[in-house]
Amino acid sequence: MFHTFENSIEIDFQLVPDGPILVRSGVTTLDPAVAELEFQRTHHRGRPTVFLAGSGLKGVLRAHGERLLRTADKYACDPTKRRDPELCFEQKKKDLKRSTFARPFANQCAACFTFGSVNIAGRFHALDAYPAEARWDETNRTESRTQVALDRKSQGPAAGAGSLFEVEVVTAGAFEARVRGENFTLWQLGLVLQSLRDLDTGLVRVGGLKSRGMGAMKVEGLSLRFRTLDRNDGLLTAARNRGGNDHPYSIQAEEPVALPESPDVEEKREGLFRTVTITEEAVAQVSEGLIAGPLSTYLDLEATA
Ligand SMILES: [Zn+2]
Repeated sequence: MFHTFENSIEIDFQLVPDGPILVRSGVTTLDPAVAELEFQRTHHRGRPTVFLAGSGLKGVLRAHGERLLRTADKYACDPTKRRDPELCFEQKKKDLKRSTFARPFANQCAACFTFGSVNIAGRFHALDAYPAEARWDETNRTESRTQVALDRKSQGPAAGAGSLFEVEVVTAGAFEARVRGENFTLWQLGLVLQSLRDLDTGLVRVGGLKSRGMGAMKVEGLSLRFRTLDRNDGLLTAARNRGGNDHPYSIQAEEPVALPESPDVEEKREGLFRTVTITEEAVAQVSEGLIAGPLSTYLDLEATA
């Protein structure tokens, strides 16, 4: 994927429904009066099950990341094209080396640089999340909820026989989720961790019918597993800029983040790699360090009053 290996991270956590979760399959129409919405289903290890698609989870993290970036006056293109008509992946290939202020990363915006676009591989992606083994049956015990379709024009209840529709929701159990990062900067890791924090508090929601109060999920049991070839013991270190001066804004050097002295931080050598496993209380400490340090520095947050 990349020419060099700088660093990698596995962010593992459980997503626990905090109320009904509806996740519709990508092919279902968005028209609430027509849609018979379905939870996404597949077979996993020989058993039928509901699951959360990694692409959907990444989309949720990206959409929130875009909001945070824009709020800090950083440009982020909007893949839905509702916000601005020009997307990073529509930039011509030959222009990839011509970075601009809005698109500092090989002519891609900060959101595309983090989560990927057609032109460049993202630094972070999410894997499909399946029910936790111990809570498999509980997670798959879905419920049916009746919804009143809204008329698009009046925003009131739609008239007619089709005005009620059934949706299938997951209300309990837990999903094992993993977000992987490779060759990332520390502000990007901070952005992903901030988004997970906002998911946990309910500011960010998952799946369909969010405006009807669905999609709140708790983030539990968060752990981090970091790998690098460098020998900077006791530090979380960023990918370096190997692109020379082709991309004048590109990846800027970052201060490493010190690991807390904690029994929940385990650092060791595995073959060529230096690995750091961070669990329990130490995850919150490291997240705070990344958000207050590299992410805040990148976003350049200042007092405005
Ligand atoms: Zn973009």
